[in-house]
Amino acid sequence: THLSDMMNKDYLIEKLKLFFGFDNFKGDQKSIIKNLMDGDDLFVLMPTGGGKSLCYQLPSLLMEGTAIVISPLIALMKNQVDVVNGLTEQDGVAHFMNSSLNKAAVAQVVKDVHSGKTKLLYVAPESLNKLDNLDFFVSFKISFYAIDEAHCISEWGHDFRPEYRNIRPTIEKIATLRNERRAPIIALTATATDKVRMDIKKSLGILNAKDFKSSFNRPNLYYEVRQKNSEEDADSQIIRFLKQCEGKSGIIYCLSRKKVEELSKKLQINGFRAAPYHAGLDTEVRTQTQDDFLREDIDVIVATIAFGMGIDKPDVRFVIHYDIPKSLEGYYQETGRAGRDGGEGRCIAFYSPKDLKKLEKFTDNKGEAEKEIGRQLLEETKAYAETSVCRRKFLLHYFGEEYTKDNCANCDNCTHPQKSIDAQDALLVVLRAIKAVKQHFDQAYIIDFVRGRATDNIVRHEHDELAEFGSGMEINEREPSIWNPVIRQAMIAHYIYKDVENYGFLTLTPEGLGYIKKPKPFHVVLDRQFDETEDASGGN
Ligand code: ADP
Ligand code: ZN
Repeated sequence: THLSDMMNKDYLIEKLKLFFGFDNFKGDQKSIIKNLMDGDDLFVLMPTGGGKSLCYQLPSLLMEGTAIVISPLIALMKNQVDVVNGLTEQDGVAHFMNSSLNKAAVAQVVKDVHSGKTKLLYVAPESLNKLDNLDFFVSFKISFYAIDEAHCISEWGHDFRPEYRNIRPTIEKIATLRNERRAPIIALTATATDKVRMDIKKSLGILNAKDFKSSFNRPNLYYEVRQKNSEEDADSQIIRFLKQCEGKSGIIYCLSRKKVEELSKKLQINGFRAAPYHAGLDTEVRTQTQDDFLREDIDVIVATIAFGMGIDKPDVRFVIHYDIPKSLEGYYQETGRAGRDGGEGRCIAFYSPKDLKKLEKFTDNKGEAEKEIGRQLLEETKAYAETSVCRRKFLLHYFGEEYTKDNCANCDNCTHPQKSIDAQDALLVVLRAIKAVKQHFDQAYIIDFVRGRATDNIVRHEHDELAEFGSGMEINEREPSIWNPVIRQAMIAHYIYKDVENYGFLTLTPEGLGYIKKPKPFHVVLDRQFDETEDASGGN
């Protein structure tokens, strides 16, 4: 009989209460735990704050053997290990293992695992894959593997870690050497587009894993994008904002360590309880800053993205991105740290086209494929920043979820809506153009095509000879900035599909084909205009 059959609801609830002090499961937790205990492979997609850790922590305590939790960050491990130890009040129930441990500490871990005391072993992927450690991992019963932050497996995620690619071979080696079926795998992440999800499953060899996908909508988070005219301008906007949030906790993300230092100093001078946080600071300093933040001796942390993974402060009231992020996956993850308790959480991103150019240059020294990925991810961020569509709708669409309301009442575009304009003719022109070039070209190409620009590329394909070439010229004269919004909003409305697997080619959905035959009213809101300021010399 299945283990879960023996356990009625009360058994799991009872254990939940006993070990964690909670009265009820959140979201899919219970069903995830049951399936895991039944031996299934699982794929869990849950937004930050959704309660992923419990999905493996609780079963590990109830199952035979030790669960291996693969997790990318040392700081994260420490934090999590503390949590479980605190709850069970039993030393050695959870341990972590990575290169920071000395010999004695490793010996203690080995001892506790072998004695059966340790139910949860957090390991860095490097430690799991290390050949020297193989004997150890073969020497005890593994209840299951939990792959935390599983998006790190994919180059299409925002935080690719090559070591994650080697997890599967190691797990298979362990199973072979133990002469057993490999233990079940539960992969967990808060950020995964369809593409990343597929990548994860392929790489881990769990194509048949059961999917658990919670809604990503965080209704209590307010999204806003602000123009950054200059650094001084952004600084003073932030100072004004902080004055309204006196005493509230928040995080400000900057791309560079230098800016982190500068801004936190500036905030301190202005009387705010702020501190810097980045990977260049000593571990003790960073730990101290984290603790100060949790204890509210500090209100504002100015940080690089190194800060926040595994930080569980439920009442973070704002997350500000001083620079536009490199990908929407990363952005969503970082903003997700606001309002975990369900209360207010303001997410503000500063944007200037100039910053975007800088980021594009950053990718210049990478390989071709990597560069292309970076470019496409950045393109999505740009679209997010410039859109006048509901930000929530935009973000959820990006993560493959449909948000059906037209106005969420909790983002800048919904609280200050722009007027929409009629775009039925423009949409028709675009759809026909996509069809005319056989659905084999990307957004930029289609826009050149409908505008009647005979670029080298278009001429080479002899597309300037098609009847549809230049069919949007008249519209273009009236409304030159209509094309990107039309195409993007047509994607959200399911008329157009962007094939990310194939160079971002635009293709027509059945609805798109239907629209050509039977057009109907279609309205779009034009993008917000962001000025390119401060950069008089003009870049390239
Ligand atoms: P994630 O890893 O998905 O970001 P966490 O595992 O850190 O989320 O959980 C987020 C918060 O929710 C934590 O404070 C955790 O203690 C709390 N939590 C998790 N499960 C429950 C539950 N069943 N009932 C109440 N609170 C829960
Ligand atoms: Zn909205």
